Amino acid sequence: MKRLVVLGGGESGVGTAILAKQKGYAVFVSDFGSIKPNYKNVLEQFEIEWEEKMHTESKILNADLVMKSPGIPDKAPMVKQLVANGIPVISEIEFATNYTDAELIGITGSNGKTTTTMLAYHLIKNGGVNVGMAGNIGDSYAKMVAEQHFDCYVLEISSFQLDGIVSFKPNIAIITNITPDHLNRYDYKFENYIASKFRIAMNQTAEDYLIYDADDSVITEWLSQNPVQSKLLPFSLERELEEGAYIDNNLIKINVDTNYLEMSTDFLTLEGKHNTKNAMAASMAAMLVRVRKEAIRDSIQSFQGAPHRLEKVLKINHVEYINDSKATNVNATYYALDGIKKPIVWIVGGTDKGNDYTDLMPLVREKVKAIICLGMDNSKLVATFGKVVEPLVETYSMEEAVKIAYKVAERGDAVLLSPACASFDLFKNYEDRGDQFKDAVRNL
Ligand code: ADP
Repeated sequence: MKRLVVLGGGESGVGTAILAKQKGYAVFVSDFGSIKPNYKNVLEQFEIEWEEKMHTESKILNADLVMKSPGIPDKAPMVKQLVANGIPVISEIEFATNYTDAELIGITGSNGKTTTTMLAYHLIKNGGVNVGMAGNIGDSYAKMVAEQHFDCYVLEISSFQLDGIVSFKPNIAIITNITPDHLNRYDYKFENYIASKFRIAMNQTAEDYLIYDADDSVITEWLSQNPVQSKLLPFSLERELEEGAYIDNNLIKINVDTNYLEMSTDFLTLEGKHNTKNAMAASMAAMLVRVRKEAIRDSIQSFQGAPHRLEKVLKINHVEYINDSKATNVNATYYALDGIKKPIVWIVGGTDKGNDYTDLMPLVREKVKAIICLGMDNSKLVATFGKVVEPLVETYSMEEAVKIAYKVAERGDAVLLSPACASFDLFKNYEDRGDQFKDAVRNL
């Protein structure tokens, strides 16, 4: 019996353990932290051996194969030992893909993964395909492969998952965009992070497709120096393209292997240029899995975006309150400021990830009428925008931030929470931050 060790007892770890057990592996789950009670119950139920708050080396180094959860860095001592011992360490998507013959759509990028994944799933499901959605979103892919049968999967894939692939090959890959993020896991080298994202295409052949943002110079430059086998399907808001998708006035025009689709941008339910790009990418993926054009045009109009992503909360006294708590980096906030057509009262701040706010400056000058800094340490924001926007105030509480915004905002303005920073200084996570914002707005 082959021995599989799973490092990390979270969603992807437990999912992998279930699938591996079903496929006849002897499975052992080891988590250096603690495992959530509901996951422990599942492991017990499947009679899978586990441990927490430690790594029993003798058991782990005895493995034939190790699945490492995406949260565990390569630098973790246990992982280093495994590698030194020549034991293969892979990710969940690598493991699970061996057990499905479904058509795979893999979506990665620095921003827009979840939105594009949800939209592609929405279009494909409404198009009548037996499709599952997994990866970083919802249930783990491995668990779904173990328990259900789908003809197609839409997978949201992080760079950490891609670091652990060997043969994983999506039939359709999407790279939404690449901007610096998570550099602490990539030796602070942007090129390492870019290379990690492009692993999504590394096993693709001429039968497969790579959909990508042709306006993103990081992507296009990388592709010009590191060609891929895949058929390329670019999308652009800036220029006409023969193949792929582009904008002509307010028409989205798509050509995928001489299958043409046109639809008005008025059909899109989500605002902002970035969402037009996400819609282009998702529509092309849907066309490639043979969803009819009429179905795409119909269902694109019924898509409800994911919470915490430019989510409209309420209108009070003709002021719109928008929750973009998921904007945990500068690029995501750029699109929020760019997309909103009203004067903005901007709530920003949190844990700085080495942010450079230069790109935001023109938008801030043009649109932002007040800044409310909400973080433990707001010094960089104050230094950058203090002389540009008046008033700029600081607070440490969401409730107070929203109250200040309420006082400052006037008819026709938007109050935008788009922090450009991580949330861990004052909140549990970005969902908690967004929920607190929505509660505070509803209590006004
Ligand atoms: P991810 O899953 O990659 O983090 P999300 O869909 O959750 O992406 O969106 C994260 C943030 O990025 C949100 O603030 C959202 O408005 C913004 N965003 C969404 N799509 C894009 C895009 N194509 N380019 C830049 N920012 C985007």
